[in-house]
Amino acid sequence: MNGDWATFSMAVMSETYDGRCLCSEVRFRAEGAPKWVLWCHCESCRRHSGAPASVFVSFADDAVTMISGEIAKFTSSAGVERGFCARCGSTLTCSNEKLPEETHFHVGAFERADELTPTGAFFAGERLPWFNDRARPFAGLSALAQVAMGRRRNSKSTKS
Ligand SMILES: [Zn+2]
Ligand SMILES: [Zn+2]
Repeated sequence: MNGDWATFSMAVMSETYDGRCLCSEVRFRAEGAPKWVLWCHCESCRRHSGAPASVFVSFADDAVTMISGEIAKFTSSAGVERGFCARCGSTLTCSNEKLPEETHFHVGAFERADELTPTGAFFAGERLPWFNDRARPFAGLSALAQVAMGRRRNSKSTKS
């Protein structure tokens, strides 16, 4: 959001981020460092994604190239467009005319989402009270199997 920071990060990093929807019909590529990576806890994002919170990565529009397909758009409120894949329904983007010339991509669309760490949050006041981004991770498939069997994992951790 800070101009100096954006200039600095663009100069230091030269990166390519590939993204796609679940069915792969929509593919895009972003070049250069993102402008920012942030959580959004607003209710609109929650409804669009179905997830309790979203993480967005912002790229300047001229840094993004469509490789295939197109992002379908829905105007969710005045000046706000939500992008998705019309075929598979993947939640892909949000753009706001108050932040022109940039598009906010849902971080999960990118191949290297692990490198896109959020540094803050929009609408923290709308955060679901039980949402905890520091929650202790489940231990993979065995935990999933336990949940499927209706058993809650014991609160004692197996590793510490
Ligand atoms: Zn798709
Ligand atoms: Zn939001």
